[in-house]
Amino acid sequence: MQIREISVEDYEKVVVAEDKPSGLHAIIAIHDTTLGPALGGLRMWNYADEEEALNDVLRLAKGMTYKSACANTGLGGGKAVIIGDPNNDKTEERFRAMGRFVESLGGKYITAEDVGVRIEELEWIRSETRYVTGLSRKSGSSGNPSPFTARGVMRGLRACVEEAFGTSRLDNFHYAVQGLGQVGGDVARGLSMLGAWVTVTDIDENKLEEYTALPGIESVPLDEIYDVDCDVFMPCALGGILDGETIPRLKAKVVAGCANNQLLGSEDGDHLHKRGILYAPDFVINAGGIINVSMEIRPNGYDERLAVAQIENIYTALKVIFETSRRDEVTPTIAAERVAEKRLREARERNGKPVADSAPTP
Ligand code: NAD
Repeated sequence: MQIREISVEDYEKVVVAEDKPSGLHAIIAIHDTTLGPALGGLRMWNYADEEEALNDVLRLAKGMTYKSACANTGLGGGKAVIIGDPNNDKTEERFRAMGRFVESLGGKYITAEDVGVRIEELEWIRSETRYVTGLSRKSGSSGNPSPFTARGVMRGLRACVEEAFGTSRLDNFHYAVQGLGQVGGDVARGLSMLGAWVTVTDIDENKLEEYTALPGIESVPLDEIYDVDCDVFMPCALGGILDGETIPRLKAKVVAGCANNQLLGSEDGDHLHKRGILYAPDFVINAGGIINVSMEIRPNGYDERLAVAQIENIYTALKVIFETSRRDEVTPTIAAERVAEKRLREARERNGKPVADSAPTP
């Protein structure tokens, strides 16, 4: 396997691997390990070329530094990508080569699942390295992170509702949930159980049928979700859905959901703020999964009770962010970045490392 290092400003290490026998072409980006080893998922995607893959992995790795810093996981930020078609190019050989690539970094980078990669492929990686998390519970790992992400979203929702409506009760409000996947589905069900009014949408008709059978849940066609006269809009499907076209349509006072990178551009965060809509930064409210996975790195191994206790802190993390946002008169996203940067700066000062100060690209 040929491994070459690329020098990228503000990143600790970026390495590209090409392995002829297996066909592996992959990149690992370690953005920052001030707070601990860099943990972030492995994505497999049909990138047009190495440059496109590099842009993606750099953006994602930096985002992981901020996410883990805000969630206090004791981890740094990193990410990995495999250039290839997730539907046709998955072989054991290729993923075992990826495992050796991860191993070559000696634990500075720890991998996990992301788009295009499932637990089965992580098991192949596991045969070559122990620096892999999020495997099945059977193998002593922390399992599927989604229920933990959903739990964190529910906890974060309480902080949002307190901030926007001055009450910690979730049941009195009307929620619009976009996407009934592993996380959004759990959230919609949880809200229904509390007695809330929930409007949902999904591209999957079977899911709509399943969820509208629950008390208080009704559905609307895909595009109408933005126009629902609700109190809280919850993006739980795709990224980049909050933009100049959708934000003016929102009736909600709060936007809080699990989807990654909900804002299309950083100006969309300002737009929400100017409209008086409280936005829960996605990388804070959706951190339940990473918090759960981070528990695997503890010296005593994974402990679900500790994971759940730390996920509860998403509530406090958002309270601090909203307070900072009010005090500094900045958007909650900028406030969250400031909280993360402060933690990184303090840790660097403790470790005697130089201080870098740059926010992640949205
Ligand atoms: P999932 O694939 O289980 O669910 C996505 C759901 O969205 C599916 O039901 C799909 O049919 C639906 N959907 C797709 N396009 C849609 C559209 N245009 N309109 C409405 N619905 C649509 O995914 P998930 O694991 O629930 O994750 C959802 C989002 O949360 C993703 O952005 C993911 O990156 C993010 N996230 C997930 C986790 C986790 O632990 N699963 C953690 C952090 C962030």
